[in-house]
Amino acid sequence: MKNILIVEDEPNISDFLKGELEYERYNVCIKEDGREGLEEALKNEYDLIILDVILPSMNGFEICRRLKREKQSPVIMLSAKDSVMDKVNGLQIGADDYIAKPFAIEELLARIEVVFRRQDKFNNYIVRFKDIIINKSSRVVEKDGNEINLTNKEYELLMILIDNKDKVVTREELLEKIWGYGYESETNVTDVYIRYLRAKLSNENKEEYIQTVRSVGYIMRS
Ligand code: CA
Repeated sequence: MKNILIVEDEPNISDFLKGELEYERYNVCIKEDGREGLEEALKNEYDLIILDVILPSMNGFEICRRLKREKQSPVIMLSAKDSVMDKVNGLQIGADDYIAKPFAIEELLARIEVVFRRQDKFNNYIVRFKDIIINKSSRVVEKDGNEINLTNKEYELLMILIDNKDKVVTREELLEKIWGYGYESETNVTDVYIRYLRAKLSNENKEEYIQTVRSVGYIMRS
């Protein structure tokens, strides 16, 4: 079941939305205050946040801007002002869609569907491990927002370890999956590539992403 947070200070609108969204089998939480809405959005995992623009204590644009610095949750902005400026503003700060009040509930539901479909597609090709983000379609690997250049073998090695996170992957499995059967299992080729990969992923606090399991293989613990 998807979780939706509504930040809206007009109870007649939020109550109506809650009823309609619950009927569509979404879990709904309502916050009426801007700051409280932002706190709630940062604290818990929401699949979607519906944000009013004019709110007590913090406006919707500011909430969206701060939220998007830390989270990927999609945002649909609501506003009474059907002005082009508001729309441009909302989309520039990272809102996923924008709808002007008054709106037909069918239109909002349709837009929510679109956001969820886009999100599901995105989740299928974006893989995360701690601060490492991998785009499986472009094979781009990023850490702390910086691209890490990996060779094909290093990339495959990383993907196998991440796909099997919290499980030990043996040297034999890695050899077989990445280099095929031709290699003798006593070659230390996997160890060499693990060393390359570790060097490329290393950071200042020396966090070890890939751990060695003595005489067995490797593990990435989440
Ligand atoms: Ca309002």
